[in-house]
Amino acid sequence: MKWIATCLSGAVLFGLLSAGCLEAHAADNEEKRKLQVVTTLFPLYDWARVVGGEQADVVLLLPPGVEAHSWEPTPRDIVRIHRADLLIYTGRYMEPWVEDMARSVTHGNLLVVDTSRGILNGDADGHHHQEGHEQGHDQGHGHAEKEPEKELHDHGAHGADEDHHHHHHQAHGHNGDPHHGHDHHSNHHGHHHHDGHHHHHHGGQDPHIWLEFGNAQIMVGHIARAFAEKDPQNAQLYLDRAAHYNARLQELDKTYEEALASCRHRTLIYAGHFAFGYFADRYGFDHVSPYSGFSPSAEPSPRRIAQLINKMRDMDMKAVFYEEGVEPRVARVIGRETGARLLLLHGAHNVTRDEMAANVTYLSIMEDNLERLKEGLECP
Ligand SMILES: [Zn+2]
Repeated sequence: MKWIATCLSGAVLFGLLSAGCLEAHAADNEEKRKLQVVTTLFPLYDWARVVGGEQADVVLLLPPGVEAHSWEPTPRDIVRIHRADLLIYTGRYMEPWVEDMARSVTHGNLLVVDTSRGILNGDADGHHHQEGHEQGHDQGHGHAEKEPEKELHDHGAHGADEDHHHHHHQAHGHNGDPHHGHDHHSNHHGHHHHDGHHHHHHGGQDPHIWLEFGNAQIMVGHIARAFAEKDPQNAQLYLDRAAHYNARLQELDKTYEEALASCRHRTLIYAGHFAFGYFADRYGFDHVSPYSGFSPSAEPSPRRIAQLINKMRDMDMKAVFYEEGVEPRVARVIGRETGARLLLLHGAHNVTRDEMAANVTYLSIMEDNLERLKEGLECP
């Protein structure tokens, strides 16, 4: 029996108590066993709990407050995943470790759910970027990131594609000069020296798909169908819950659209890493960050921060947004220089222990974000 192999290897390799394995085995024999679901990021955890209800035990792999981009599973997490019915993750650009790990799972019970399917279309390109690119990113970079970017930003507001190029251009450190905006792809090939930020792109796709409510609905749909596949008896229940939840997401999207339609500012000054690109495109905002990519690991240079400060003064911006989970050092510098207020714009990658205890949800985070967006962008 497979559980024996999993439990024994778990016990031997990672020193787990075999009592846990025996319990798991006993549970296997119960007919009404709950689905065992493992999730990576907070939104997936929240949505899996909504969809799974009482029929599922849902675990969030990320420990409270831990930075999501650089996180990788421990051996103990791997054992948990091997025992689960479902592993739900964002996509290969957010959790590059999942594909390798999934190949090592041999028991055939685990269903691995890539919630970016139909959003990022990651299978069609850039696969070879997954391996060894941290060191070897100078080779071949640039070609895999053109086509998908164009496609995946099509759902944005007017001019989103142009804005998007502009953002990336900012993200790549040729900032400040709008005339560079449209040739940044060609710049890719030659500029290996600028700040070493290429490695953030991992094939060029922004992983923060969950921050756009249309994408979120697709992701919830993936989760519900995976539950239905694993537990056909309750399939309709899962699909109904997802439909109900997605109606709330649609409502929230409409609320956002109306609330943000006539703000004084159309530029999101974000002192964190680039997380709100899809979001900004959706509501027709420009998205500016001093960071050089899609992950918080590379700190912005003083030059980039200085440029941002000048931009804020030019625009008479009175607020700067900061990201969750890390000390807002960069935002404080900007605030000190400009007198701007600091406002949290929560990317929902993960939550703190306190937030978990306070039962925050994806929806409550987004509702709070909207209040601060209205304040910071001066929306009537
Ligand atoms: Zn992020």
